[in-house]
Amino acid sequence: SIPLGFFGGIGGASKKGILVKGSNYLEGLNSVKVVVFDKTGTLTKGTFKVKEIVPQHPFTKEEILELAAIGEGFSNHPIALSILKEYGRTIDKNQIVDYQEVTGQGVKVQTEDKNLLIGNKKLMEMAGISYENVEELGTIVHIAVNGQYAGYILITDEIKKDAAKGIKGLKDLGVKKIIMLTGDNQQIGKKVAEEVGINEYYCELLPHHKVEIVENILKTLDKNSKLLFVGDGINDAPVLARADIGVAMGGVGSDAAIEAADIVIMNDQLNQIPLAIKIAKRTRNIVW
Ligand code: ADP
Ligand code: MG
Repeated sequence: SIPLGFFGGIGGASKKGILVKGSNYLEGLNSVKVVVFDKTGTLTKGTFKVKEIVPQHPFTKEEILELAAIGEGFSNHPIALSILKEYGRTIDKNQIVDYQEVTGQGVKVQTEDKNLLIGNKKLMEMAGISYENVEELGTIVHIAVNGQYAGYILITDEIKKDAAKGIKGLKDLGVKKIIMLTGDNQQIGKKVAEEVGINEYYCELLPHHKVEIVENILKTLDKNSKLLFVGDGINDAPVLARADIGVAMGGVGSDAAIEAADIVIMNDQLNQIPLAIKIAKRTRNIVW
């Protein structure tokens, strides 16, 4: 049977916009020793903006932006949304014959007369296309048309205002290990991790790498130490499911993530995670 106090704890959390899907998760928050964060949409806002469009001769800026927008027309990824927003016009989706989203890499699209690859350097490397290896001051989206490199679009995201405070809050509550995982490039990964106060981070990961890293950490933990994962569910739903406690960002998060998560943070603020642990500690003191 579940001690009544837990219902009070869950109610208290929900008043703060933290939805806890069961008393076992609230109780589990007391034992969190490792917190793993996804980057995009979790530590950062996940609302990218196009900063620069750099075509490769003979393509023009307008051309590569349009090609990228056509390629991203079916994607819900925050990167795709930023490109579509910059393009600003609607796309005739009828011209798309075949569409494939390659998780952690980008999209492959076949139109009536063109083969488009829109994504990161891994996607280019897989197709054997040589790309411009720029110093990465943001997320780089490369564009290739019919096997020919056409240029890149530089887009940037912003770190959430309370991210560093949220991380510090976790450290103050005795969380031993804080880790960041990202599919994004090394320079951006390093920059975000350093700015929010995380010194262990892994970049250029595919979704299955994220699962493997979490599984390896879980193997090292005893029964009284729990791993909490925080993500937005875009490309990280498998990790959300595998963690002892999966936390999803309710605002940017996909429906699938909110479904898969054990705890949902409605306002997407990172300081809500130490707050949830504090509520769990208070609840335990009342219950026992
Ligand atoms: P994160 O791990 O930071 O949450 P994702 O796993 O969602 O990021 O994506 C990892 C990388 O894959 C992105 O940084 C980007 O380079 C590439 N990518 C994923 N989806 C797309 C897309 N629709 N268009 C272009 N690039 C994409
Ligand atoms: Mg993600």
